[in-house]
Amino acid sequence: MARTTRPVAVVTGGSRGIGRAVVKRLAEDGFDVVFCHRSRPDAAAEVVAEAGAAGATVVAHRADVRDPHEARALVAVADALPGPLSTLVTCAGIVRDGPLARMSDDDWDEVIRTNLDGTYHVCRAAALALMRHGAGCILTLSSIAAAHGSAGQSNYAASKAGIVGFTTSLARELGRFGVRSNVVAPGLIGTDLTAELPDAARASIVDRVPLRRPGTPEEVADLVSFLASDRARYINGQVIGVDGGLLL
Ligand code: NDP
Repeated sequence: MARTTRPVAVVTGGSRGIGRAVVKRLAEDGFDVVFCHRSRPDAAAEVVAEAGAAGATVVAHRADVRDPHEARALVAVADALPGPLSTLVTCAGIVRDGPLARMSDDDWDEVIRTNLDGTYHVCRAAALALMRHGAGCILTLSSIAAAHGSAGQSNYAASKAGIVGFTTSLARELGRFGVRSNVVAPGLIGTDLTAELPDAARASIVDRVPLRRPGTPEEVADLVSFLASDRARYINGQVIGVDGGLLL
């Protein structure tokens, strides 16, 4: 019997960490998934094998979100699949931490270009297809640092605060086309991004989490799964934390 057409999701930064868990979860949820990565084809190939086991078409595409042409090419891969592009999740992100007085212009630029410009490039590339479909959602990854700041991460916090203003604007702009836009704001999640935190810094954060542990990528993917589903059909323009209560 012919398979029914699946909706298509695009995930940036799907080779590792939160993005990887999101790709796997959306494939289980019934999406075909196109994801991008920049530098780790080995990790991307593992994700294709693992997520594809759920019966979905899962495509890894090398694209640097800092480059608008590569962002367009990523979305074109999704457009070529049989189903409609209905979900975009922007997980690609980096940190280049340092105190402001010693911050290099390169570290500032790299973080803004990857986290903020990269989110803009991919959302712009996907906007028309989403509007044409007339349903679905954009989910951007911000951070608790956006609203509350983070010493030694002024570049990162600025990029993540920019993502909140950007995404809530999309919620207003694209809502009339049936496209929802929401922000996912994780706290401390165990991934490569946080693996290099000094032990004392990690312990001090975990001490402030009422649940007394870091989150897992799968726990963020559970929220993404809900927000991408029809159960979240009246949720638009929200910033939703997944942080174990860290900010209480
Ligand atoms: P990881 O470092 O584990 O993974 C980052 C992913 O982004 C990788 O797949 C990487 O690809 C990809 N990537 C990085 N730069 C680019 C680029 N220029 N173009 C395309 N892909 C790129 O990070 P996390 O999973 O921890 O973080 C995911 C998102 O969640 C980020 O936006 C982060 O800021 C946010 N977040 C994470 C938190 C945490 O505690 N982990 C907390 C709050 C927010 P490749 O494998 O090719 O390098």
